[in-house]
Amino acid sequence: MFDLHGKVAIVTGGNGGIGLGMARGLAGAGARIVIAARDAEKSIAAVRDLKALGSDAVALTVDVCSEGSVDAMVADAVRRCGRLDILVNNAGTNIRKPAHELELDEWHEVIDTNLTSAFLCSRRAYPHLKTAGGGKIINIGSMLSIFGASFAPAYGASKGGIVQLTKSLAVSWAGDNIQVNAVLPGWIDTDLARRAREEVPGLHDRAIARTPAGRWGRTEDVAGVAVFLASPASDFITGTAIPVDGGYSSLL
Ligand code: NDP
Repeated sequence: MFDLHGKVAIVTGGNGGIGLGMARGLAGAGARIVIAARDAEKSIAAVRDLKALGSDAVALTVDVCSEGSVDAMVADAVRRCGRLDILVNNAGTNIRKPAHELELDEWHEVIDTNLTSAFLCSRRAYPHLKTAGGGKIINIGSMLSIFGASFAPAYGASKGGIVQLTKSLAVSWAGDNIQVNAVLPGWIDTDLARRAREEVPGLHDRAIARTPAGRWGRTEDVAGVAVFLASPASDFITGTAIPVDGGYSSLL
């Protein structure tokens, strides 16, 4: 039910953090992984890591904000691997400022990286998933898909948008046997979160106090949900958003 042998998965931003945690899960289940990110050195290290798990992984350089770069990356992935079955739209960024201090180009940078990228990648993946007889798209939201934060207006808008994009793609492509779901991570210990802890005083302890599980998430905490949403086990599940948050979103 959870077997991914013979499947090919693109993971954007898969060279570290949550993306690499998901890529490791998918590789462990048998999928061939395409790491699609900007930093070639980090991507080569991630490929080495996945090869050690037995995945015939490849690294491709992409800027997910650029239509041309995304189109070339998807075409290249299919040329190198012969097919495409799974797309994880994980690449993301944040610029932590209140709305009254945020410049328009900063707004666009966050929206383009976190939301427009998922549209661009999904649109180009669609014909290949259809050709494969069906497929899986996993979009990465956040607790800010649900809650607000004073320091994250563009990030919150992008992550709220990811949930609604997920629903639109899900209903649009259900007839093609393509399931589209979102994962909403709580606080997970990654480079992005480390930067947040540096910039937001007290965040480290507040995240622990606010999380019923009483700890920060680890990148391996997101591996299982990726395998589930990429595998036949979730074939009748589409358009949902699953929190992976140690109970954060259930606490009043
Ligand atoms: P990281 O900073 O570790 O990972 C972000 C990844 O996105 C990097 O691999 C980076 O690749 C890639 N990326 C950023 N911009 C681009 C771009 N323009 N083109 C291609 N790749 C790009 O952070 P996380 O692992 O924490 O974040 C991954 C996702 O999880 C994001 O969508 C984030 O919003 C989300 N998230 C994270 C949470 C957390 O607590 N950590 C909580 C909720 C959601 P490169 O270095 O090569 O540029």
